Amino acid sequence: MNHERSHALFTRAQALIPGGVNSPVRAFKSVGGEPFFAQRAEGAYLFDVDGNRYVDYVGSWGPMIAGHAHPEVLAAVEGAMRNGLSFGVPNALEVEMAEAITRIVPSCEMVRMVNSGTEATLSAIRVARGATGRSRIVKFEGCYHGHGDSFLVKAGSGVMTLGLPNSPGVPDALADLTMTIPYNDFDAATRLFDEIGDEIAGLIIEPIVGNANCILPREGYLQHLRALCTKHGAVLIFDEVMTGFRVALGGAQQRYEVTPDLSTFGKIIGGGMPVGAYGGRRELMAQVAPSGPIYQAGTLSGNPVAMAAGLATLELIQAPGFHDALERRTHQLCDGLEAAAREAGVAFHTTRAPGMFGLYFREGPVETFEDAKASDAGKFGQFFHAMLERGVYLAPSAFEAGFMSAAHGDAEIAHTILAARSAFAEVAQ
Ligand code: PLP
Repeated sequence: MNHERSHALFTRAQALIPGGVNSPVRAFKSVGGEPFFAQRAEGAYLFDVDGNRYVDYVGSWGPMIAGHAHPEVLAAVEGAMRNGLSFGVPNALEVEMAEAITRIVPSCEMVRMVNSGTEATLSAIRVARGATGRSRIVKFEGCYHGHGDSFLVKAGSGVMTLGLPNSPGVPDALADLTMTIPYNDFDAATRLFDEIGDEIAGLIIEPIVGNANCILPREGYLQHLRALCTKHGAVLIFDEVMTGFRVALGGAQQRYEVTPDLSTFGKIIGGGMPVGAYGGRRELMAQVAPSGPIYQAGTLSGNPVAMAAGLATLELIQAPGFHDALERRTHQLCDGLEAAAREAGVAFHTTRAPGMFGLYFREGPVETFEDAKASDAGKFGQFFHAMLERGVYLAPSAFEAGFMSAAHGDAEIAHTILAARSAFAEVAQ
């Protein structure tokens, strides 16, 4: 595969942009080599500036659930764009978006639009702190909630890839307020709440961890956290930036039947445009400015073009059977990969939720962050490059979930499994 143009662009980028990228995982640090530069994308495929085509299992890290450049999303964007790019006064599409989110996710009685998942989680913990008058936040090892100071404590994916437990620049005084416990450990959560439950403003969790590969909650775990938060008066926040509208129309909270107090969203609700949102119980959200004293604002929040892209995407995913098909496709892919690995004699395991999956170079089961970390990252890197060479783009980190879209059909999955057969054979050597 020729990567001449990508290489030239990466050389220029590295001189001017830290690491040559505008978000760390894109730099391929954990798998080695250099990133390719995208020219365009369509359906399940990415095309790079050198004319190479890849079946894309990253989907812009989640938003492209309907497939890239979906004609209905593009038409909605074009239509909105002709009316102007930003108004700075309210517009009807913001109301439609609030109506759509609150209808699809019943725990969200009110919602506020922001511009990224990071803004959504930052705002949600401010509400939790403002509403409870408490300071401490609980999060989980390996969970990533964006790059806000309070979250860069034992965070997953990008931070983990770089081997940083915490980021320099996060004051100890603030990091000390973030308590981190192991995901899927019932007793650790109980113990922490027994000790300092009356100091905890909120607990934030990725209900399915997508930033430490892909780890599913143990039976009853999310319910256990719900009960602890209720008992101790803490705000339960589901970070559904990744899982929202993906693992079920109503997200992980619908799939596992647990009602959080606040939820955060991003990715899919922007359809590929920069969007985030947070919402929840009316009594909490009504405390956000200007109806209440907890301040949060944004020049471009509720941007009409972004709302149009998000609304068109939400429309597409409400088609009957959409998530069932996504789930079937995810199993088809993961079953095929596991069979290919078995054939090659490679220790390999997958975890799955509809539209999202984890790949592990180890035997299963994988239920904890420690289990996930025990995956052979070296073998993953080898596999990643072998697949890339064969026109399949996986997340360039052993600690990131993969994503399916509605555009991934039989042909794309067959191509992927065929590529995996010879890629696993390379890894086995
Ligand atoms: N929360 C989760 C679960 C995420 O996966 C991410 C990003 O991947 C974020 C928050 C941050 O979102 P953004 O990158 O839009 O700021």
